[in-house]
Amino acid sequence: MGTMMIARTRDLLANSLVYATLDAGLSTLSSGESLPLDVIASRLRRHARITVLTGAGISAASGVPTFRGAEGLWKQFRAEELATPEAFARDPRLVWEWYDWRRRRIAACRPNGGHDVLAVWSRRFPSFTLITQNVDGLHERAGTRGVLRMHGSIWEVACWSGCAGSPARWTDEAVPLSEIPPHCIYCGGLIRPGVVWFGEALDPEIVAKCLEATRCDVFLTIGTSAVVYPAASLIEEARRRGAYTVEINLEPTPASAFVDVAVQGSAEQVLADIDRRLEQG
Ligand code: NAD
Ligand code: ZN
Repeated sequence: MGTMMIARTRDLLANSLVYATLDAGLSTLSSGESLPLDVIASRLRRHARITVLTGAGISAASGVPTFRGAEGLWKQFRAEELATPEAFARDPRLVWEWYDWRRRRIAACRPNGGHDVLAVWSRRFPSFTLITQNVDGLHERAGTRGVLRMHGSIWEVACWSGCAGSPARWTDEAVPLSEIPPHCIYCGGLIRPGVVWFGEALDPEIVAKCLEATRCDVFLTIGTSAVVYPAASLIEEARRRGAYTVEINLEPTPASAFVDVAVQGSAEQVLADIDRRLEQG
């Protein structure tokens, strides 16, 4: 039954029906046809196993710059030039100045309505997993249960040389940092941000949990450019395993072509619209 609707939705998107104002755009579908947001809400309402993957776009409305947006640049550098072990080895002060700037910026931000809806869902649905590529901690601050952080946290640090006395990572929320670059309290050497940089391996335990979570009934990918791997491959994996896949993003991404429904709109608005439908039962 759902299949025809899904096909229609995909066809409409392929014909580049842009949901400029979401409701107006959707209401142009013929009556009696299930609307995409209604379909998404009814899928969620079945208390299915739900997995959500978020990227920088979910935090954009909070004022946290995305990497690929206009504000993603810091000084003249692109993120890819700073978020690598090579960049840190070359110039730890420069990399820490950037992290200190981001930490100050994020500390001044609050979770937005999109984070709030997902936090409510994490308590409402018995089988709900939130995977995030974000390092800002805003899902946790919104009260989301059991967040799987693929790329670590900007509020954690680790010893750069991994000295014997130090834990793998520890929390350091000092804003601004008392010294740049900061030093290891265990060995006096340099510390590094507790995030996964480009070219670094992800924590295998977290990857295993993320892969396990692709075994679900509904998989939503929200505010991610779907170009950073292996996060992006989770969407493909969920689809391969038969999940109903939904994308919510301001613009089309490589994932738009293969998800069941690609909703073009802001995460905070679309999540509020879906949540309203859930509340109405
Ligand atoms: P990205 O910067 O590559 O892409 C952001 C995506 O969000 C884009 O596709 C954009 O169209 C979309 N977007 C922007 N505003 C939106 C909104 N209001 N609603 C819906 N979509 C919106 O980010 P990414 O895909 O997460 O991947 C890049 C890497 O950057 C990740 O590894 C992540 O760790 C890191 N990062 C994290 C943060 C953070 O913690 N907040 C911020 C920037 C980058
Ligand atoms: Zn150390």
